Amino acid sequence: MIKTDRIEIQCPQCGHNEFEHPEKLKDNDFIKCNNCHFEIMLADLKEVGMEQAKDVIIPEAKAEAEKIFKNLFKGFK
Ligand SMILES: [Zn+2]
Repeated sequence: MIKTDRIEIQCPQCGHNEFEHPEKLKDNDFIKCNNCHFEIMLADLKEVGMEQAKDVIIPEAKAEAEKIFKNLFKGFK
């Protein structure tokens, strides 16, 4: 299974996050989705993963910032 630090890369076809892949992965190796058998080159999957990570990280960071702001303003009431 390919994982980034905290976000699993999802299959661009079906959203599954387990892939079949060779032991030693190179960027130009093809890996296959365990669920829908969609094949994608590792280099491309990494890019998809980066895009997915952006979508997840930004809302999370926003929520975190909002929490911090809320706490800050509590003291001023
Ligand atoms: Zn799939």
